[in-house]
Amino acid sequence: MNNHQNSMKTHRTDPKRPLKGEKARQAILNKLADHPATLAVAQEVTSFFGSRFQYSESENIDTSEFGLGIEPIVALIHLKVGTSRITQSLAHELLHLRLAVRKFPKYSEMDAPDHLEKFISDLSENYDPLLNIVQHEIMLPEFLALGFQQKDFLVPPRPPANYQRLVRTSKNQIIPEVRFPWWCLEYIRHWSHARHSTLLQPALYASEALEFGKSEFPELPQAVNQMTQVFENGHFKDASKYPSEVNKLLSIMLVPIITQWVEFSSEQPGHPIAKFIRTE
Ligand SMILES: [Zn+2]
Repeated sequence: MNNHQNSMKTHRTDPKRPLKGEKARQAILNKLADHPATLAVAQEVTSFFGSRFQYSESENIDTSEFGLGIEPIVALIHLKVGTSRITQSLAHELLHLRLAVRKFPKYSEMDAPDHLEKFISDLSENYDPLLNIVQHEIMLPEFLALGFQQKDFLVPPRPPANYQRLVRTSKNQIIPEVRFPWWCLEYIRHWSHARHSTLLQPALYASEALEFGKSEFPELPQAVNQMTQVFENGHFKDASKYPSEVNKLLSIMLVPIITQWVEFSSEQPGHPIAKFIRTE
């Protein structure tokens, strides 16, 4: 257990009225005064986003989170305080935002083939969780390089649904075009949690997801095996390959691929601009 929070002055802010720009930057830099490595990350991120950076903190949220908006450009961190891993959480969210600073684009448009058009709102629920997992794969070595421990990288996972009951009931209620990606993501979510933490349960959850998912979709083991290979190759750690590697994962899951991305740049520090790029 670390005791970072004991040495830290915390002042609560209302997430609906976050600190902005220079005030947000100062609040974060003050928090990291005794952790120079993370302070450098905070400086890089906040000077890139300038007046577009926002920060708030509270005790009453499940976990810390970051956000990145395009129109208008907003980069925000909402930090959960009152825990034993505040500095680690702040570093984690800063590393998510630093990926945008380092030219890893954000998704903006997908291209659904006609037969998937009507399921697009259900299928859209795959993008954020999948990209979050991909980003964690890129960020973990950076987190360790800041001097933190792997056990402090993630909060413990949500326990899985009752898969047995799910297999019995969902068949009649949810169409296969939505169920197959769900099983893929469910497996990958646990598999990556095992890979990115020091916990034992996620590996068990992963094998359970595979066992029950396979009873519905015999092709599931092959699909998730292809997905884990994309992670293990790690080509998406190169920002220029990130879009196409993410699309590989989406194709395996049978989810519409992303055809438009947004890259952030800040030639004049503190004044980021968004540039749309298309991939086919
Ligand atoms: Zn994260």
